[in-house]
Amino acid sequence: MKSVSEKVDVVVAGGGTAGHIAAIQAARAGVTTSVIEAGTMLGGTMTAGGVYMPNHFYSTRGPVVLGIPWELYTKSKKTEGLPIPDYQKRRPVETPGYYSYINVPIYAAIAEQEAVDAGVILHYHEFVSHVRQDGNFWEITSLGRGIKRTTKAKEIIDCTGDADVVRMLGLPVIQDTKRQPGSYQYKIENIEHEQIWEKEVQAIYEEAMADRRLQKGDFAYPNMLPFKNFLDYGGHNCTHIYASDTSSADGQTTANIEGRKRMLRMFKFITTSIPGCERAVLKTMASHALGRDSFRADGEYMVAKEDFMKATDFKDKICNAFNYIDMHSESKGCEVTFLKSEELLPKVPFRALIPKGSSRITVAGRIVSSEKVAFAGIRAQCTCMAMGQAMGAAAALAVKRNMPSRVIPAKDIVALTLEHGAVPI
Ligand SMILES: Cc1cc2nc3c(=O)[nH]c(=O)nc-3n(C[C@H](O)[C@H](O)[C@H](O)COP(=O)(O)OP(=O)(O)OC[C@H]3O[C@@H](n4cnc5c(N)ncnc54)[C@H](O)[C@@H]3O)c2cc1C
Repeated sequence: MKSVSEKVDVVVAGGGTAGHIAAIQAARAGVTTSVIEAGTMLGGTMTAGGVYMPNHFYSTRGPVVLGIPWELYTKSKKTEGLPIPDYQKRRPVETPGYYSYINVPIYAAIAEQEAVDAGVILHYHEFVSHVRQDGNFWEITSLGRGIKRTTKAKEIIDCTGDADVVRMLGLPVIQDTKRQPGSYQYKIENIEHEQIWEKEVQAIYEEAMADRRLQKGDFAYPNMLPFKNFLDYGGHNCTHIYASDTSSADGQTTANIEGRKRMLRMFKFITTSIPGCERAVLKTMASHALGRDSFRADGEYMVAKEDFMKATDFKDKICNAFNYIDMHSESKGCEVTFLKSEELLPKVPFRALIPKGSSRITVAGRIVSSEKVAFAGIRAQCTCMAMGQAMGAAAALAVKRNMPSRVIPAKDIVALTLEHGAVPI
């Protein structure tokens, strides 16, 4: 195995939803930045994971997340030759959401190009395996095929989705006793929709559930939507994998196997039992199963349900967090709770992104310090990306001022993100 070393100002651990934005922001602000990403591309859950629906750039009242996330989104739409939806003119239909969709290959390639152009050093196929403090520096060991890298950095941003770095440092974490189910994403195409009659198809689905050709969770939303809906929405499915734990390689492997088993079962059912689906094609599958929640940082502040539902106006707010609360469970399927008023615009405080008692490390994305219910609202992709941009800015300011990120005033962080197009908060 080759041993190599590197010295940068900022290491972003995990180049997923939050991490790729954090890295681009830090690098554009003028500090040397690397990304250590276990997977094969930037974007994490929103690209490799197959969840290509970033919520929410806009609320009914106007923009909530712009900045680098919006720049990449609009660049990818332009590359596709598609217009940018005029969110101000759209009406909320069944949710207050203004859904956006990305084309995964285009978005991942554009994000990568923007990162490279900003000077971000990318290390794919490498996972952070050990972190220790060495004076005012971090020493980060990452392992990849045939390589052991030792990186010295002043600041780390943990964007691993499972608080890997926070846990490696022995800092406190939160793990809910009962976690939401994980999911596996895939898409079945070539469905002849004119052949699909809602009541007939629903009866066939229910019969298959009764005789166990299909199992609970194969279609995750029976409490909310008829089965036909899944077929109509381009056959994009989001199975429920109960009690999965994707925070370790063993748990991830088990979840991948279960997810693909569910995918094949559904494909077999659809092609053999539903009129109009005989020539359906299993077109796309995600590279891995996903966890909605695993470990979160226990931060200097833990965002509570009330904070989210009442949109607490934190003094140290760093970005907006507009979304509905989206809770998944084995017993109920999916439950969605909306904010009481369209005027409410929840926020994320900087303290929720600083692990308790730590210095020179922040977190972004779904490991934000938050209680279970608040978390189910904050974890949406646009909020994760906005947290990433803010923590990229915090790390850059920390390096430039030669002080730990935790003492950088939130208003300075926000001011830097505003220079890079973010929404004033
Ligand atoms: C099934 C499902 C459906 C969802 N639906 C929606 C939706 O419709 N709209 C929406 O807005 N949100 C949705 N969400 C929520 C949202 O997608 C996630 O909360 C968000 O993408 C998490 O972003 P993240 O950056 O924290 O993690 P991720 O995007 O998962 O990124 C983490 C990255 O870290 C890497 N990594 C992990 N450990 C290491 C390590 N040790 N070393 C190096 N790299 C590492 C991973 O490979 C990954 O790329 C959904 C989530 C799930 C699971």
